[in-house]
Amino acid sequence: MSTLARKLLIAGNWKMNLNSAEASELADSIVNQVGTQMEVAVCICPTFTSLEAVSKRVVDSNIGLGAQNMHFENSGAFTGEISAEMLRHLFVSYVIIGHSERRDYFNEDDNLVNQKTIAALEASLKPIVCIGETLNERDSGQLESVIHRQLEGALLGVSPNHADQLVIAYEPVWAIGTGKTATPEDAESVHSFIRKLLSDILGIEAANKVRILYGGSMKPENAEALLSQKNIDGGLIGGASLKAHAFTSIVDSAIKLSS
Ligand code: PEP
Repeated sequence: MSTLARKLLIAGNWKMNLNSAEASELADSIVNQVGTQMEVAVCICPTFTSLEAVSKRVVDSNIGLGAQNMHFENSGAFTGEISAEMLRHLFVSYVIIGHSERRDYFNEDDNLVNQKTIAALEASLKPIVCIGETLNERDSGQLESVIHRQLEGALLGVSPNHADQLVIAYEPVWAIGTGKTATPEDAESVHSFIRKLLSDILGIEAANKVRILYGGSMKPENAEALLSQKNIDGGLIGGASLKAHAFTSIVDSAIKLSS
């Protein structure tokens, strides 16, 4: 756990799963199990079609609501898109930006990730900006250059004043949905590299305020070891966030490390 005042954040990315009735049921279970604790920040990110229903389930709890994507414009002729203002209207407070699945399947590049990050910050949302290398990039010695390019690209023009709001998720692409996890030591070494880059980009004071989550097959069995690393400030959880018990036991590990 961080020795600085960064509250751990456990975020569930439900991806394209669950209809609104199923999403409401899962949200209810999570609220019942960890909805009143205050030691750890928790957020769940359902599909757009379930946001309104889930918003009503979490409204009186300490569970935050997140979206999985957004457009950078406020409104206009962008068929099929959703703006930050529309998310705010549903009491959304976090938004995942530049997930590797969006970079890969929908051709999102660093410039688009940057535009969305700036729009999210301006709308007072907390962007969870995803970065991470593929196995090929790691094996060919490009890990640091890829992380550097993605982080610098995402944060172009971002003010250090927004550091409290900003969340970075380090998600090695080879660990997402594969059951393969970076070792806690490997993950910590990339997180500490990201912290150093943040310091170069935003200044040291701001860099120490930014939360850096780890994502990639985090589950109850490996959460505590990952979350206890100095620069790992939480987790972005895919598969394990679809089961209330698995997700809340990760939250419990974070609570244990925070108290
Ligand atoms: C993710 O998609 O952000 C993720 C980390 O997925 P999983 O936990 O399933 O690897």
